[in-house]
Amino acid sequence: MPNTPKYVYAFAEGNKDLKDLLGGKGANLAEMSNLGLPVPPGFTITTEACRAYLAEGHEPSGLRAEVDAHLAALEERMGRRLGQPDDPLLVSVRSGAAFSMPGMMDTVLNIGLSDASVDGLAAQAGDERFAWDSYRRLIQMFGKTVLGVDGELFEERLESAKDAKGAASDLDLDASDLRSLVAAYKELVAKEAGQDFPQDPRTQLDLAVRAVFSSWNGERARLYRRQERIPDDLGTAVNIVAMVFGNLGSDSGTGVAFTRDPATGKQGVYGDYLANAQGEDVVAGIRNTVPLADLERLDKTSYDQLLGIMSTLEEHYRDLCDIEFTIERGTLWMLQTRVGKRTAEAAFRIAAQLVDQGLIDEDEALRRVTGAQLAQLMFPRFAERSEDTGDAGDGDLGDDGADGEFRPIARGIAASPGAAVGRAVFDQDTAVEWASRGERVILVRRETNPDDLAGMVAAQGILTSRGGKTSHAAVVARGMGKTCVCGAESLAVDPARRRFTAPDGVEVAEGDVISVDGTSGCVYLGEAPVVPSAVVDYFEGRTAPSPDQADGLVPAVHRIMAHADVRRRLRVRANADTAEDAERALRFGAQGIGLLRTEHMFLGERRKHVERLVLADSDEGRTAALESLLPLQRRDFADVLAAMDGLPVTIRLLDPPLHEFLPDLTDLSVRVALAEARGEEDADDRALLDAVRRLHEQNPMLGLRGVRLGLVIPGLFAMQIRAIAEAAAERVREGGSPHAEIMVPLVGGVQELEIIRDEAHAVFAAVAEETGAEVLFPVGTMIELPRAALTAGQIAEAAEFFSFGTNDLTQTTWGFSRDDVEASFFTAYLDAGIFGVSPFETLDRDGVGRLVALAASEGRATRPDLTLGVCGEHGGDPESVRFFHDAGLDYVSCSPFRLPVARLEAGRAAVAQDGGRPGGDTR
Ligand code: PEP
Ligand code: MG
Repeated sequence: MPNTPKYVYAFAEGNKDLKDLLGGKGANLAEMSNLGLPVPPGFTITTEACRAYLAEGHEPSGLRAEVDAHLAALEERMGRRLGQPDDPLLVSVRSGAAFSMPGMMDTVLNIGLSDASVDGLAAQAGDERFAWDSYRRLIQMFGKTVLGVDGELFEERLESAKDAKGAASDLDLDASDLRSLVAAYKELVAKEAGQDFPQDPRTQLDLAVRAVFSSWNGERARLYRRQERIPDDLGTAVNIVAMVFGNLGSDSGTGVAFTRDPATGKQGVYGDYLANAQGEDVVAGIRNTVPLADLERLDKTSYDQLLGIMSTLEEHYRDLCDIEFTIERGTLWMLQTRVGKRTAEAAFRIAAQLVDQGLIDEDEALRRVTGAQLAQLMFPRFAERSEDTGDAGDGDLGDDGADGEFRPIARGIAASPGAAVGRAVFDQDTAVEWASRGERVILVRRETNPDDLAGMVAAQGILTSRGGKTSHAAVVARGMGKTCVCGAESLAVDPARRRFTAPDGVEVAEGDVISVDGTSGCVYLGEAPVVPSAVVDYFEGRTAPSPDQADGLVPAVHRIMAHADVRRRLRVRANADTAEDAERALRFGAQGIGLLRTEHMFLGERRKHVERLVLADSDEGRTAALESLLPLQRRDFADVLAAMDGLPVTIRLLDPPLHEFLPDLTDLSVRVALAEARGEEDADDRALLDAVRRLHEQNPMLGLRGVRLGLVIPGLFAMQIRAIAEAAAERVREGGSPHAEIMVPLVGGVQELEIIRDEAHAVFAAVAEETGAEVLFPVGTMIELPRAALTAGQIAEAAEFFSFGTNDLTQTTWGFSRDDVEASFFTAYLDAGIFGVSPFETLDRDGVGRLVALAASEGRATRPDLTLGVCGEHGGDPESVRFFHDAGLDYVSCSPFRLPVARLEAGRAAVAQDGGRPGGDTR
């Protein structure tokens, strides 16, 4: 008999490590139940059932029977049946995937309620209003998510019920108002959905489960997954949980909380509470919440119990947790917990604090942060930081004060840090449209909801006038690492007129530039000036990581970086072309230069020497041109070798096609034509034009460049090698310790390399002879063509090191010309899901990565001590660094600014390899 999978798990059967199967919500509800915390009873339908449903288009066989059995057990435990007329058991049906996708999928509450049981519920609760409020919520949620009725239509009916009554809030509607509203809702459903709202409780349940399954493939959910790089084939679990009610009066309510501040990492009581409300009211920002601390006054027993549970959860999960809870007539229930999303700065602070508290070790701290988060901390911030200077309306508002300083026009809640500048837009379509034509925009809304997602993705930052740290805008922005200020209540946002007004009357219309500081909560008119981040100041050595530093961020970064440096096996080098870059690279932790490109040494004033070289029609002419370049190059190399004394400096011989150093073909043609028309022909220009025409290529990327140039222009590479050798000899005379490495670009076959290597050895010998200094440096090659990777075993016969040029290797493996494709069709490729991220950003492991792994192993088989590095852009990309570690490379080389990220990720890769679960992923 084939093994039928188990599709349904009681909470008692699950635990927090079963996220893939039970989703984050289900796994953590199980964990909390098993910890003895007050969780309403329930069960979870697995992601496997969802995948089967999506693949087959119907529920997998066996699922119904399992749901029957678990529902019966739940009814038994609760002492009432689903929808039982005189005392109905009601359940919630909640989605929950392995990765949290806030608000992206569906949830239906109060399932089981019907015409037959609404009075029973009223009688049991002793509250008729409550029963009818629950029923109208059910029809509204069910109508929208299960039957596909436009949610706005329900809102309109609700608004007109409020208007008819002159009610300010839904709380002012009484039982009979709500009864009429239910009738209106039912009519609406029948009209819009073409079917009546189902009265049979079990039908309601089955349809809701199906709707949750299907919501996995909803447009919002798909877009979110693409953004967050969550795979498309995971599916969602479905949690069926006995309802507890926060809408049973003023001694009931619902809230969300964090065990620490997710924006800063500070310990304390953070959250929002809403009395007499149900479920999604808090996150949706429908009514204004109160700070969680106020609960102490409202219901001290539940508050104390909640704080106790929060500390139990922190100790148990050894991390910041976020939770959702409901209080039903003074009884506290936990509805959800998970390791909470946090900002980059909170991630570093919390990891360091947890080490101090003895809850985690330093390896674990390293798992809890990511290179992408560190990169975020290195962005500039606005010059004025004013988080502690009070609320909006405190008198010092105005765009540009008398002292010339930028002053905020309003302040809100600093929900997700960063410095965002852009034009104000008030709806998602405009955000998307303007952003697609290259405008930077800030999405301004009263509050956001999941339908605003595309606009949030397109915007530089998000500004809302309502909602707290746990509002939709805040949660989603934090997850995306996007700047957000929410709850700027002093702003009057008028989406219909596309403008907002600040307290002192400043009016901002669509298209006006504003600046939003997600770190301080300030909003500015115009483009506020930015200053470097504190973390960059620290890397630059401008500030020391003193432990008493008030905000603790720099010491936390320092500590985690120090541990990464201890743990990492990969060395880090910089791509740096000048002594100045080299010095910065050293400050940022470089252990050498992995790529010194020499092309900039042929530009500017020096172009004229290149022109002479190209025009030379005799050996003497060519030699003279090269000789004039030699001292210039020597100086360049000597400076860098001095800056990097004692450390390896990999110098790449000239790579781009020669015509890049010559005048533009059109400009020169025009110049020559005009001169000829005036009868003033210039012989040099004429010769130059002929040469430019001769060197013109259809496909320069695949043409006369790299080693090919060195082979075709006699003496060019020899001149560069001589300049390096002479500069090194000079350094030796001065008591230095130069470690140059000669790197040959764009080699496709070993024969090319052999010729240049022999030339190099001849030059070394000559310079040694002339100077008396010992100059003999390694000669190696870039591996940046598929043929080089495929014949790496042969190439290693002649190469003392390899450096993977993954920029060209990606171009030539995919057949993409980077400069052309990124701007033209990459967006379409990303939209079509052909890749989740550009292969020029993150290494394409399956294709380019295989070539790297192959070349590494075959190269080392030939020459066991072959040094392996990478110097393409991927050397500083967090995900790619992990790959290079696993592939056994010796070092990564990247631009100086990305070195800290590479160091951190190299440390994380080493820790991950040594076992333990991968950390730092709180999606
Ligand atoms: C490369 O191709 O990866 C590389 C580093 O060389 P360049 O980007 O200069 O072509
Ligand atoms: Mg290259």
